[in-house]
Amino acid sequence: MTVRSIAVVGGGISGIAAAVALTRHGHHVLLLESEDLLGGRTGPSHLGERPIMMGGKNIGRRYSHLRALLAELDDGTFEDFGINTSTVASSARSTARGTRLLPLDSSRPLTSLRSLLQMGTPRDLLRLALLARAVRRHDDARFLGSPTFRRLAARRDDPALTDYFSPRMTSSLLRLATVRMNGAEPDEAYLGTLGTNLGLLTDTFEQLDHGLAPALDRVPARLDVQLSSRVTELRPHATGMQVQWTTSSSSHTRDVHTRDADGVILALPAHAAAPLLAPHRPELGRLLSTVRYFPATVAVVKYADDVFTSEIRAVAMGDGPCSNAGAYGTTDRDLVRFTFSGRRGRLDSPTRADVDSLVASAEANLSDTFGRPLPERLDWTWRHWSAAYCAYSRHHARLLDQIATESRSLDGRMSLAGDYLLGASLEACCRSGEAAAAALL
Ligand SMILES: Cc1cc2nc3c(=O)[nH]c(=O)nc-3n(C[C@H](O)[C@H](O)[C@H](O)COP(=O)(O)OP(=O)(O)OC[C@H]3O[C@@H](n4cnc5c(N)ncnc54)[C@H](O)[C@@H]3O)c2cc1C
Repeated sequence: MTVRSIAVVGGGISGIAAAVALTRHGHHVLLLESEDLLGGRTGPSHLGERPIMMGGKNIGRRYSHLRALLAELDDGTFEDFGINTSTVASSARSTARGTRLLPLDSSRPLTSLRSLLQMGTPRDLLRLALLARAVRRHDDARFLGSPTFRRLAARRDDPALTDYFSPRMTSSLLRLATVRMNGAEPDEAYLGTLGTNLGLLTDTFEQLDHGLAPALDRVPARLDVQLSSRVTELRPHATGMQVQWTTSSSSHTRDVHTRDADGVILALPAHAAAPLLAPHRPELGRLLSTVRYFPATVAVVKYADDVFTSEIRAVAMGDGPCSNAGAYGTTDRDLVRFTFSGRRGRLDSPTRADVDSLVASAEANLSDTFGRPLPERLDWTWRHWSAAYCAYSRHHARLLDQIATESRSLDGRMSLAGDYLLGASLEACCRSGEAAAAALL
């Protein structure tokens, strides 16, 4: 086997999965990441001394590729998280004792079934049950472009979820999944990509006890990692690619670096890959620029006492700016993660003061929902992503076919990974990275 030198652009899960897969085959890998740490939208951070994840952290039992990757890097232990979330019943009114909630909890199937029966019409439930069965039976149905959802989208002209299910179903169960996974409202999400959302709803989740940081810390021991290195240009040459990137120096000037590589993997969200591809492959750049992304802002707040109980650990908060408030972990019920996403939660460059006041109003809603005041706030941190969630596109499978056709012109010198190829979950990103590595080899 010939040892090749490959540059991987992007140090999120897609890029790390690609890079580690290449090192397994003995290739030299240079991983270029524009930020000063690895992890991308998993968002490793701290609240005081405590390591926390501001972005993707929940790992499904069916995340087999991601789990294998994490085990290879660091054998961290998992805390069960299950599915535990509650939505406000559509008929609910606030009373002195709080608001009636419909819990969905993977450890309480009967309670969840009762909630589900109130969330949609019999036709909704039948349609959903059939699709969920396909996702349970066929591993590929929970990823983008699967035959099951391709056929369905083609037959129905890929309607928005609001044109396929009743308002009761879209505003309760389906909104919970589309806002959480794609930052999209059900009228912005399509039947052809619902398999990815059902993959989330039919899985049960855990999180790493110490977050992803210990695994991420092990990556530089396996390959050459360059942080604070933004790739600005890719130039094809006779036998491979020249990669150009900039780093900030202490004098605040930008240093420009170049390196020749036998191949490049662009492990970036579509909007970041598009401008790098556009100069040489304009059509591919154009196709990638049509993939939609929505913003999110996340605040993690430490309270003097538990906010949630063991039975209610997260609440989907209607259509306010705060789409979801949840305990950070099963036992971390005094630590609450507020997510601002969905149509009314799309903030534009918020300041700390903006987020502070939004958290205060979400706290007031939570307090009304529970019918009791919240404990004292001790500390908090926040993070905003202007393009947090990949929301795919209508007839996304067709777009993927066009991307695949255009990618053939990359001549085996470049391949693509990222959340727009198989789905936005960490598992889908991990698989896309591994597939990009395999395609290049
Ligand atoms: C708030 C939030 C919560 C989520 N929760 C979950 C969850 O619980 N479970 C789950 O499965 N999924 C979750 N997700 C989704 C999941 O985290 C993401 O889809 C996934 O992390 C994306 O990984 P990626 O490597 O494809 O992209 P990214 O993580 O975005 O990585 C791309 C990297 O490329 C870098 N980069 C960009 N441009 C350049 C350039 N020109 N040169 C060099 N580097 C560049 C970026 O800095 C970034 O680090 C969540 C997402 C968000 C935002």
